[in-house]
Amino acid sequence: MHILVTNDDGVQAPGLLALAQAMRKLGRVSVLAPDKNWSACGHVKTMSRPLRVNETRLADGSPALACDGAPSDCVALALMGVIEEPVDLVISGINPNANLGLDVTYSGTVTAAMEASINGVMGIAVSLEIPADLQGAPDFMTAATTAAELARQLYAAPRRAARQPIWNMNLPYRPNGDYAGVQITRQGVRIYQDALDKRLDPRGHPYYWIGGDHPTGRDDEGTDFGALVHGFISLTPLRMDMTDPDGLEDAPELSLN
Ligand code: MN
Repeated sequence: MHILVTNDDGVQAPGLLALAQAMRKLGRVSVLAPDKNWSACGHVKTMSRPLRVNETRLADGSPALACDGAPSDCVALALMGVIEEPVDLVISGINPNANLGLDVTYSGTVTAAMEASINGVMGIAVSLEIPADLQGAPDFMTAATTAAELARQLYAAPRRAARQPIWNMNLPYRPNGDYAGVQITRQGVRIYQDALDKRLDPRGHPYYWIGGDHPTGRDDEGTDFGALVHGFISLTPLRMDMTDPDGLEDAPELSLN
């Protein structure tokens, strides 16, 4: 089995190192990831400039490839031939914040998994809800080991022909591994607390930060957010067909005259 590991935090992020190390127990691992942080970049296809791929090494000395494109660019390049050996599974992360509810539309971690599916390969996004008040360096290894074991089971499970699933995995922060369990979930409701922070540059011109507090969410049963709140690992199967069935049902009669 040949596994591509990528992320949206940059190839040198500690979450990627832990995930790459854990995935080596499942098969051969190649790493192709962005050379900088692309968090919250959404689904990107870079078409207006060339993309460069450079050889680098992870902190454990293992070889990796760094690209100046977005996470989804990295996956597309890898699967279109930059990595010659066919890839069986793409796994993205570990992102140092959960991706819940509508976060999936912003998340570079998740769009890397989406890009895998578009290119005919199963994709798994892995995110870890690290407490905001955590002191010191977070532990990614426990989550990585658990994510790798779940990825093994997801990959081995029977699935419909011609379907390349996208899984959004979120883990609560449990360095001792004392998870409440695993839940298959649907996207929950995120509550954003974004606030506009307007400042003035040295010449008196305004500029803006999208700031505010960390998003919260609604503790609904069966949702990704609800699972995490109660200490469960959340696994949400995603699809990219965003057609709204209610919209189809409720659409008005339209005419051109
Ligand atoms: Mn990120």
